[in-house]
Amino acid sequence: MAKFFRAAVLGPPGSGKGTICKRIAESFGLQYLSSGHFLREGIAANTEAGVLAKTYIERGMLVPDQVMTRLMLPKLEQLKNHSWLLDGFPRTLAQAQALNNLYQMDLVISLNIPYETLRERLSDRWIHPASGRVYNMGFNPPRVQVLGHLKFQKQSISSGLLLSDLRSQGILHSFSGTETDKIWPYINTLLSTKILPLSRCSMTSL
Ligand code: ATP
Repeated sequence: MAKFFRAAVLGPPGSGKGTICKRIAESFGLQYLSSGHFLREGIAANTEAGVLAKTYIERGMLVPDQVMTRLMLPKLEQLKNHSWLLDGFPRTLAQAQALNNLYQMDLVISLNIPYETLRERLSDRWIHPASGRVYNMGFNPPRVQVLGHLKFQKQSISSGLLLSDLRSQGILHSFSGTETDKIWPYINTLLSTKILPLSRCSMTSL
């Protein structure tokens, strides 16, 4: 096979990127790698990176670029001969540059969700901490609202720089909306023009 497909999904906390990524990975057969998942795994296992990352995540801050690239790039190294989809990485310009030095990305999807929608989703999520996320455990609702607000402020500047860089490379596709189910058909259509969906792959191989 001549080429592997390399893509990423970006979006602020609460944007539904995990749901979108799972649908893309299942429909198009991409290996799915989530930075949040690897961070939580490291935190649970008390690895050096996990212990460090936890101190940033708990404050609603981004984990330093070096920690992230050291965590994510070796995972990609193991997937050299695969098509993949990244969830939550790269999240800053520096991370994108480190990734770019090794791999050419084909497409980046950015989820543009109104602030009000994100706020509602996150306050629900954090009041009922069933998601298992580290930063929502043990908080009471008022503290959570403050953390949520700070998190947007702290994380949005770096994503702005990243988005303009990806836009200038011509690989950025932005999708806006308040419901994942309504955004999904547009993403599905776009990807169908770039990769063969799994159902059609198996039909053609028959
Ligand atoms: P959602 O799952 O709703 O998209 P989220 O972005 O907060 O929300 P994760 O992607 O699971 O969830 O990340 C959890 C936290 O881990 C982030 O808030 C951030 O602090 C940290 N994090 C994840 N990916 C990165 C990254 N690439 N660079 C720096 N920090 C990261």
